[in-house]
Amino acid sequence: MSRPSPLNADLHCHSIVSDGTLAPAELAERAHAQGVDLWALTDHDELSGLTEAGLAAHALGMRFVPGVEISVSFASQTVHIVALGVEPDNTELLQGLQHIRMGRDQRAKDMAHDLERHLGLPDVYAGALRYAGNPALLSRTHFARYLVEQGVCRQTHEVFTRFLTPGKPGYVDHAWARMEEALGWIAAAKGVAVIAHPGRYRFSATEEWALLEQFKSLGGQAIEVVTGSHTNSQHRKYANLALEFGFYASRGSDFHSPGESVCDLGRLPPLPADLAPVWDLLH
Ligand code: AMP
Ligand code: MN
Ligand code: MN
Ligand code: MN
Repeated sequence: MSRPSPLNADLHCHSIVSDGTLAPAELAERAHAQGVDLWALTDHDELSGLTEAGLAAHALGMRFVPGVEISVSFASQTVHIVALGVEPDNTELLQGLQHIRMGRDQRAKDMAHDLERHLGLPDVYAGALRYAGNPALLSRTHFARYLVEQGVCRQTHEVFTRFLTPGKPGYVDHAWARMEEALGWIAAAKGVAVIAHPGRYRFSATEEWALLEQFKSLGGQAIEVVTGSHTNSQHRKYANLALEFGFYASRGSDFHSPGESVCDLGRLPPLPADLAPVWDLLH
């Protein structure tokens, strides 16, 4: 007897409301065309794409999970916490996210100033802003697109190896939300907290362990095991950590743009079969 095919869940991606390039409804269509059964939109620090995304998903007969990817500062690094199944009208969550977004504009001006100094390029802030679908959500990705347009780098990925990351021109340290704040807002909005792409952080083993422990002690329930930015060996590593900590496991492409993202919506390996999928917690 053949085994039932696993649910094609994609619980992490971005629209023009943050640093993706497609509208929420276009993303829903793309996810559906790629065979996604259960789909979440998780824009950075912003919920305003969820209504359009949910309507489009339902019109296509695809299950939809309202989500958000929250920027958090932990041990001097930025950590991303994906919240799944949130109530989009929850005041605590809305106010917390608005507070995070307010810090972005000054950070962007400081980034622009630093890039102008290093590259001799004029009007970097205005240039990046042209790429932002939402001026309240100016991100490093928009600067990366402008630097590609200006011929400084050939691809956005290359920009992040030469600029915009710690120690490189255009990087500006920033205080995002504290972990306990972010998990408080997620709990208030009845969502499930998930550590996004844990393999991307530059933590020592001790710091990584502290991250997982603190996240769990504050009510965090899941980690992304299968994501567009993990290698196969990281899939196994985070599967083992999920089992060790008793975390549910998530799967998400982190798709941003057809031209830029290596991993398309719904095109990830399945979750390892020994893990509890996070969608068991989503109704
Ligand atoms: P920000 O929230 O402004 O710090 O921007 C973070 C975003 O930059 C991430 O969500 C990614 O979309 C993008 N990013 C960060 N590092 C890289 C990288 N190495 N390659 C491509 N995109 C990156
Ligand atoms: Mn992004
Ligand atoms: Mn992220
Ligand atoms: Mn993301």
